[in-house]
Amino acid sequence: MESEIVFLGTGSATPTVKRNHTSIFFRFKSDRFLFDCGEGTQRQMMKSKTSATKINAIFITHFHGDHILGIPGLIQTLNLRGREKDLLIIGPEGTEDLVRIMEKLGSYEKAFDIKVKEVDEGKALETDEYFFKMFPVRHRKNSLGLVFQQKPVKHIDEEKLVEDHGLEPGPLYKKIKQGEEVEWQGENINPEDYVFKEKGLKICYSGDTRPCVRLVNEAKDADLLIHDSTFSQDVLDRAKKTNHSTAKEAAEVAREAQVKKLILTHFSPRYKKVHKLRDEARKVFHNTETAEDLKSISF
Ligand SMILES: [Zn+2]
Ligand SMILES: [Zn+2]
Repeated sequence: MESEIVFLGTGSATPTVKRNHTSIFFRFKSDRFLFDCGEGTQRQMMKSKTSATKINAIFITHFHGDHILGIPGLIQTLNLRGREKDLLIIGPEGTEDLVRIMEKLGSYEKAFDIKVKEVDEGKALETDEYFFKMFPVRHRKNSLGLVFQQKPVKHIDEEKLVEDHGLEPGPLYKKIKQGEEVEWQGENINPEDYVFKEKGLKICYSGDTRPCVRLVNEAKDADLLIHDSTFSQDVLDRAKKTNHSTAKEAAEVAREAQVKKLILTHFSPRYKKVHKLRDEARKVFHNTETAEDLKSISF
């Protein structure tokens, strides 16, 4: 599979026997990322075999303890294992100060450097194949949501090329894919007739938040929306007071943004089982699932 998500922690506030603090592992091809890194994340990574040593970057959505307290322990383990490659940590304003404090915790031999990038909104990381974007949400000061967007993928209509020109897959295909006009058996082949673009994978992670218009806009047409669902609708007051969302509200965001699939996460410890939250959301947005620790999804 080209990409994979593993929920390493799905609890809010305090961990429970079944739920670790928040962290989501995301892999695109061989690039590996963490979205938040709550306490105990490194043990969850061992259990799910999502190698911590190969992590390229950690995205932090905000500074509440349930999203960041796993970082110091993880840093120390990576040093003990002799990681040499830089680690990138991306988060809101204040991330640099936070990371430098974390680096001082404990006593260990430093083996690699941590680079920090502070973002308020916009592209947070970009390669030829994809980019990550962060944007403000409604939780505490400097709280961000996150979008992963794969760039459009070029495909060649092989069948048509063989039919029109008798050209089988080979070195010329690469040139055509790159948009070059090529000559084959005395005929010119125009790449525009044979190359088409397919929309890339889009994933949106809300972080902790109240429902907001910005989030609806950023999640538009995503293949997957992972949304804060700390509470059920019967305690909406509590959700408002703590700047979180209910399952119903998460589903309303999914419906408005016309995403393909919604996964609820960040559950309050008051819910031992979360089928009630799932059922509440499904009344508004049918394709809803609930996350659970170590659950994985492939794309
Ligand atoms: Zn939280
Ligand atoms: Zn929070």
